[in-house]
Amino acid sequence: MRPIEHGVLLCEVAAMPEPVRCDICGKLYSSRHLSSHKRLAHGKEKLAGSAAGQNSSATQQDGVKKIIEIYKTLSAENKERVRAQLATLEQKPA
Ligand SMILES: [Zn+2]
Repeated sequence: MRPIEHGVLLCEVAAMPEPVRCDICGKLYSSRHLSSHKRLAHGKEKLAGSAAGQNSSATQQDGVKKIIEIYKTLSAENKERVRAQLATLEQKPA
């Protein structure tokens, strides 16, 4: 048993960053990474209407508006094609 190796190991353990529990998802992160984790994983819940919040109602309303805007520019033939495509999508089980 060599005491020097033992001392190095203890030093590495002591240098590890203190884990902090995320109060939103309850997972442990180092204090240095917690703020960026919260921004990346939970930030979208606060920023309604951003591109990251794909399931927020504001973003969905924005999407509907865009689809209608694009739909208006289509020829009658393509409008029919879009309606047929949408009907097919609706028939498929989720
Ligand atoms: Zn979290």
